[in-house]
This record gives sequence, C-alpha cells and structure tokens, in this order.
Amino acid sequence: ELYAAHAQDGNSGPAGEHIFFFRDRSEEEHLQTLKNEMVGVVTHELKTPLTGIIGFTEMMLDAPLGEDRQRYYLETIHKEATKLNRLIHDYLDLRRMEEGQLIFRFEPVDIGSLLEDTVDSWNVRAGGRIVWNPQEIDAAVYADPVKLIQAVDNLISNAVKYSPDTAAVRVSCEVSRTAVSIRVADDGLGIPADAHERLYDKFYRVDTIERRHISGTGLGLSIVKEIAAAHGGSISFISNPGKGSTFTLALKRMREEEL
Ligand code: ADP
Repeated sequence: ELYAAHAQDGNSGPAGEHIFFFRDRSEEEHLQTLKNEMVGVVTHELKTPLTGIIGFTEMMLDAPLGEDRQRYYLETIHKEATKLNRLIHDYLDLRRMEEGQLIFRFEPVDIGSLLEDTVDSWNVRAGGRIVWNPQEIDAAVYADPVKLIQAVDNLISNAVKYSPDTAAVRVSCEVSRTAVSIRVADDGLGIPADAHERLYDKFYRVDTIERRHISGTGLGLSIVKEIAAAHGGSISFISNPGKGSTFTLALKRMREEEL
C-alpha cells in the first residue's frame, strides 16, 4: 500500500510542482511499532534496574547498616547491574551480527558434549528441571561453540521462563546423515498464532496477561536467529497455545571426511 507523504519545504521541482515521496506504509508502520516496542523495553528494562541501584546505594550512603543488610543491598545492586550489562551486551551483539561485524570462531564441535554441558550447568541453577537423555550422539557440527551455547541457552531460558515453575523442559537432539536438530520442548504458555510472524523481531515480546510479570527484552530469539543464520542453519518452532512449545535449531552435520 502506497501513500504520498507531504512535500516538504524546498522540495518543489523546477516548474514549481510538488514532489511527492512515496513510501510503503506497512514499512513505516512496522518501524513505528518497532520504535514503540523499543521504548517500552528500554523504559522498563533499563529504568527498573537503575531505579533499584540508585535507591539501594542511597540507602547505603544515608545511614550505617548492619552487616546482613549491607550484604543484601550489595547483592541487589550487583544483580540489577548485571541485568543492565546483559541487556547492553545482548543489544550490541545483535547489532554486530546483523551488520556481519561479529567475529565467529568456527571449529568442529561435538554436539553431544556441548548439549550435555549446557544442560548440566542449567540444572545447577534450575533445580534439575532440564531433562536430557544422554543418548550416544556421535555427530559434529562446524560451529562457534560459544555462540552455539548462547543460542541453546536462550531457548532453554525461554522454555524455563514461559512455563510453570517446576515443569520439565526437555532437550533432545536428532541426527540424520546431513543434519543435526537440537530441540527444546516445554509444557508452558505456548505462542499465540498472531505472534508467530513477529516472534524473531528484535524487541518484540508477546503481550498477554499471563506473561506481564515475566521480564525480558525481546532480544533472545532475534539473537538465536542470527546465530543460526551465521552457521547456515535455521530456527523454527511448533506451538500449542496453553500447552507448550518446541523450538528446533537445525544445523548442518559435518561429514566424517571433514573432521
Ligand atoms: P523475551 O523472552 O526477552 O521477551 P525473546 O525474543 O526470547 O524475548 O522471545 C520473544 C517472545 O516470544 C517472548 O516475549 C515470549 O512471549 C515468546 N516466547 C519465546 N519462547 C517461548 C516459549 N518457549 N514459550 C512461550 N512463549 C515463548
């Protein structure tokens, strides 16, 4: 759908006629939505931690505190500052990936041990919620292990965040002759159909009442998508709203002779 923007001053043609600019309205609307979402995320995800940091430091400066209280305040400040750091880091990483400026360090990676290590470290934090059947996976991918772990981490993090507190999150891996498919499945909120199209857009967050209290930046899946693309792979999902979702990160398998 095209529409004419108002001709601006000084944009009259030689014969005095108005020059009109034609822009795609849907693109304009898309940019406007993106801007609104970004303002929302920045307001909430930057302001809330900052307010906490300022509040707690002021309390510490105002009056002498007992050791316990001091420790609690410092822990809170540290936690909030870490959140801010994470947000900025994620955003810059994503920008660099989008512009092809981020350096990937590819090497043959054994997918079985990568997944096992990732799940183990999650289970330390998530109280054993992550279910993984340590099958004999004898497959390698040509990947940047740090980035690949980041992608799997983001998928597990979402599955944990958007499902009931103790519900299991299942990680599995399917290997074919040419591909390796990493799956992360949950029994959580699922993804409403009208959100499918924009799910990987940066700053996009599904806004339904049951997830208002769950914090996030809307950058996680955009990062997964960029990482998948940089590996020549893909990310996809199937979801049953109210029942759960399964995300699949598919990568090319390395052939024996490439190892
Ligand atoms: P964030 O989690 O920071 O909001 P993401 O980019 O990781 O951002 O995800 C975008 C949106 O997709 C989230 O806001 C969430 O509503 C939805 N989503 C992602 N993963 C899941 C999942 N496993 N189950 C339900 N909803 C999900």
